[in-house]
Amino acid sequence: MNRFAGVRCLVTGAADGIGRATAMRLIEEGGAVLVCDRNGSPLEELGARAALTLDVTAPDAPARLMAAVETHLGGLDVLVNNAGISAGAPIESLSDELWHRVLGVNLESVFRISRAAIGLLKASGRGRIINIGSVMSTHAAPGMGAYTVSKHGVAGLTRTLALELGPFGVTANYIQPGAIVTGITRGVFAADAGFREFWTNKAAVKRLGQPEDIAAAIAFLASDEASFITGHGLLVDGGALQSP
Ligand code: NDP
Repeated sequence: MNRFAGVRCLVTGAADGIGRATAMRLIEEGGAVLVCDRNGSPLEELGARAALTLDVTAPDAPARLMAAVETHLGGLDVLVNNAGISAGAPIESLSDELWHRVLGVNLESVFRISRAAIGLLKASGRGRIINIGSVMSTHAAPGMGAYTVSKHGVAGLTRTLALELGPFGVTANYIQPGAIVTGITRGVFAADAGFREFWTNKAAVKRLGQPEDIAAAIAFLASDEASFITGHGLLVDGGALQSP
């Protein structure tokens, strides 16, 4: 398949998990892909057009990314804001530091990188913003306040972007992954059989998700076929949220 021949893409957090699988999928299908992550070395094996080692929360990250996009890709058609962290504490003991760290990576960087990319995406004529939310973009869990707020924020930000950028041919959507085996979850799934079984059984399809399941949905939203879908939060959770 060559769905993304000539399509210029930026994927954040591409050293592991969903970002890595997404970059590989877009490259396999002919995309010109620029990847970034705070861990640089795993990026080298991806075969991307260019790779940047950076922290998406750095003040100059959006400017560095857009400069690299212009240098290496000559423009931008698809932005995948994927970099994220999961950390939790009950609100009563949630420190300012943890609150800012989680909101900084999961929400503020998405806002700042999206804002910096808007000019290039408008110029593209088929611009796509795909943000990685979560099932926690619509639900909550005790002890996960900062993460829940960050992912609800991703939903609100994406829906606003959809309204503001639709007139310029740019769509904005967010994915709501369920339980996916990645760097964030690998340890807990390996260590806690009860947790693994809970999520396996909660899914209608009776398995955990793999990064490739999410990459496939991202590739669809990035494709020409999805040009009339915008402002949408797409659950990719194996049906886990269809029962209480
Ligand atoms: P991974 O940890 O496997 O991949 C995320 C990558 O982003 C890692 O390489 C990580 O580096 C990197 N990263 C984290 N913070 C930064 C930063 N500040 N600057 C640059 N790179 C950074 O996790 P996932 O693939 O699971 O996560 C991808 C997205 O999916 C996240 O937004 C997450 O919230 C979301 N998600 C994941 C779910 C799951 O079940 N796995 C469920 C719902 C949503 P490092 O390893 O050093 O942190």
